[in-house]
Amino acid sequence: MSSLECDILIIGGGIAGLSLASALAPFSSVVLVESEPTLGYHASARSARQLIPSYGPAPVLDLTRRTLDLLDGVQSSTGLPLTVPRSFVLVGSEADVDARASASMHRIPHAEALELCPQLRPDAFAAAAVDTDCVGTDTDLLLEYHRRSASDDGVLILPSAPVTAARYDGSGWTVRAGYRSITAEVVVDAAGAWADDVAALCGVAPQGLVPFRRTAAIVAADNAPPPGSPMVAAADDSFYYRPDADGVLISPSESEPAEPGDAQPHPGDVERLVERLGAVTTLGITAVRRSWTGLRTQRDSTVPVVGFDPGHPGFFWLAGQGGYGFQTSSGIAEVAAVLLTGADPADLGADPDRVVAAAAALRPAPAA
Ligand SMILES: Cc1cc2nc3c(=O)[nH]c(=O)nc-3n(C[C@H](O)[C@H](O)[C@H](O)COP(=O)(O)OP(=O)(O)OC[C@H]3O[C@@H](n4cnc5c(N)ncnc54)[C@H](O)[C@@H]3O)c2cc1C
Repeated sequence: MSSLECDILIIGGGIAGLSLASALAPFSSVVLVESEPTLGYHASARSARQLIPSYGPAPVLDLTRRTLDLLDGVQSSTGLPLTVPRSFVLVGSEADVDARASASMHRIPHAEALELCPQLRPDAFAAAAVDTDCVGTDTDLLLEYHRRSASDDGVLILPSAPVTAARYDGSGWTVRAGYRSITAEVVVDAAGAWADDVAALCGVAPQGLVPFRRTAAIVAADNAPPPGSPMVAAADDSFYYRPDADGVLISPSESEPAEPGDAQPHPGDVERLVERLGAVTTLGITAVRRSWTGLRTQRDSTVPVVGFDPGHPGFFWLAGQGGYGFQTSSGIAEVAAVLLTGADPADLGADPDRVVAAAAALRPAPAA
């Protein structure tokens, strides 16, 4: 068995693990291991690719704002087109829109909503709200940006390396990943739907993380919204849709608990959604090009869990991003990098007060 040494071993090669790897790379010796032969194979390959600053609980909103700022900086310095403006329109009954629209969305009249989203049938909604600060993101490009900057700064990234055993001797870990044995001072659990399972392998109590299924599809449509049109979501969580380079992206917005795994659409789910969209829009869907299901993993509070485990000083959580994993990714990676390196936040370009507040909000729960 070949062996490797590092300061920090990151388990999981999705957006969480890769964005942390690129943030840590200049400061620590880091190895990242991923079970699958391909990076970003699970939740990170299956998202709707939208960053919505008005979506989620308060700590998520702050982290989303910070992520958008950091991504703007990357775009300015590299010229990579990581984001494109794409606003977000919430529609439904007065009560549902009131309940769902956060303070940073603003209400718009029915006629204005129809102008923005002419595919909506006028009688399908009574109220609407809009977030004009949203962007769409190219998740493949973002994952590749983090992979490349981590690798360029010396991070060793190992696909096809599932972690199957881990032992802590009081000062460090010995972890089996594929055919390798890796020693590290700290293990970071960025294993998405498997985060509680990885904790169990390491002898760490779970955080009560539950994966929830969500399905999406790309469809062909006679009356597809043109590029640059908003993402439209029902305030009662019964659908969303947005323009896509290959047609229209649609989702039934379901949220059903599931076991960790390679989730697949349930037969009939996409067909029922197409029928529902036929009733509330004039999209005119003609064919389903492809569909998929991913797992959005979260704890009860829906706030991600980031920080050293209270019962185990060598184990760091980076999990529970739920439906916000891309929109919070760079903000969370920045907070995690400060906590892991013990660096002065200012040295990492971070605002100390913001890091302290985020670290408190994201703190792992003590073992029950
Ligand atoms: C339909 C859908 C729409 C979404 N839309 C959005 C959106 O518009 N905006 C947004 O911000 N978020 C969205 N999300 C959520 C977002 O996709 C997730 O929050 C994010 O991808 C989670 O990233 P992750 O790195 O934590 O998990 P993952 O991408 O699942 O990565 C975890 C990795 O850990 C690996 N792993 C597990 N166990 C081990 C082990 N023992 N050893 C080694 N590796 C292991 C897995 O193979 C996996 O690759 C959406 C999700 C879905 C399903």
